[in-house]
Amino acid sequence: MVNTDILIIGAGPAGISAALYLARANASFVWLEKSAPGGKLLNIHEVGNYPGIPNANGFDLAMSLLKSTESLGVSSTYGEVKNVHKEDGRFIVATEDETYSSLAIIVATGLSNVPTIPGEKDLFGKGVSYCATCDGPLYRGKTAVIYGKGFQALEEALYLQAIVGKLYLITPEEEYEGEKMMLDSLLAKDNVTLLTGTKISKIIGESALSSIECEGKDGVFEIKTDVVFPLFGEKSASAFLSPLGLESNRGFIKVDANMASSCEGLYAAGDIVDKTLRQVVTAASDGAIAATSAVQYVRKAKK
Ligand SMILES: Cc1cc2nc3c(=O)[nH]c(=O)nc-3n(C[C@H](O)[C@H](O)[C@H](O)COP(=O)(O)OP(=O)(O)OC[C@H]3O[C@@H](n4cnc5c(N)ncnc54)[C@H](O)[C@@H]3O)c2cc1C
Repeated sequence: MVNTDILIIGAGPAGISAALYLARANASFVWLEKSAPGGKLLNIHEVGNYPGIPNANGFDLAMSLLKSTESLGVSSTYGEVKNVHKEDGRFIVATEDETYSSLAIIVATGLSNVPTIPGEKDLFGKGVSYCATCDGPLYRGKTAVIYGKGFQALEEALYLQAIVGKLYLITPEEEYEGEKMMLDSLLAKDNVTLLTGTKISKIIGESALSSIECEGKDGVFEIKTDVVFPLFGEKSASAFLSPLGLESNRGFIKVDANMASSCEGLYAAGDIVDKTLRQVVTAASDGAIAATSAVQYVRKAKK
């Protein structure tokens, strides 16, 4: 068993920011990441709204955030957290290969994709994708569908329209609610069709995607497409915390202004938090607050 004061789970913008603050506070901590450090940023084509770095490429922004922890000699360790429980006031955190014991935890595990449309799971990787930046270039000149709403779907659509031959942006909302400048710029393109008030009811294909079935104002209809990006299935990556019985809203952890959850010593940061604006800048802010709170908690606990 590895003993530490604080354990950070996740190395996206929230986890990176938490690690930076913990390192600068000279705290004893372990930082676990199940995949490549950088989180969602690694798959974002352009981050247009991170202060100080205009139109940053997501990968480059991730690398520069990681540089700030590396310059302090800190980097994440590979490990996917499978289970967390509490014993005698300490958190016991299990990955496949190791068990950790810590006084405090910062959960920064973001969102994960959960298939919600019939056919979505079976055709994942065969025409169903969650990342336009990663897979968009495979569909050059072809037909693509983005199913979503708000800023994220618009951003993915703007990136894809320059690559594909035909792009449908489909949303169940009666009117598309999103940044007007982005929406206007997208709808000015000849190859883009916006379908509002429309749901995708089925994703169809045998060995590869062939079409989607939609339900709109005028009934059911089919669209032939080569790829679909369903962006509605994002759920909080918090299932492994269920033994702690945290207060949450649809899996998103409820926190106070110090990023403290209903479980003493457990702090949450970033997209996993129950909040309204899930962005890089808010994730980084949450991580900083969570780390500062965790340091204070550990100091008190050790007195
Ligand atoms: C397509 C797309 C475009 C976007 N565009 C923008 C934009 O332009 N501007 C903007 O500000 N925001 C944008 N966002 C949102 C932004 O990416 C997120 O708000 C931000 O990445 C959240 O950071 P996070 O650290 O909370 O989570 P994430 O970035 O999701 O990082 C979570 C990390 O935790 C790890 N993890 C998960 N579970 C475990 C586990 N059990 N054990 C160990 N590690 C685990 C994951 O592997 C991941 O690395 C976009 C998001 C998407 C999907």
